[in-house]
Amino acid sequence: MRCPHCGSSKVRANRWGERVGTGIGGLAGAATGWGGLCAGAEAGAVAGTCLGGPLGTVAGGILGALAGLATGAVAGSKAGQLVDEHIIGSHACRDCGESFTL
Ligand SMILES: [Zn+2]
Repeated sequence: MRCPHCGSSKVRANRWGERVGTGIGGLAGAATGWGGLCAGAEAGAVAGTCLGGPLGTVAGGILGALAGLATGAVAGSKAGQLVDEHIIGSHACRDCGESFTL
């Protein structure tokens, strides 16, 4: 793999958009999941009456936040990859500093 601008082989993958997207997506997803705490808590409370009271309620809320975190992080990562590829450029040259997409 070579830089199309200067021909250098010192090329690195650009992952800014992906990293930022994963972070933001994860946070947004966790917030959404935590916002769904009521729904999760309700489901947990229903299950909890069988499994053991408050524990089920808490577990339901935590599971909701974790599920939201995972879903949001994946969605954010995908969106970030698109930003990397189409806006920032998926690779960058260490010698001339240019960003480009192969
Ligand atoms: Zn270059």
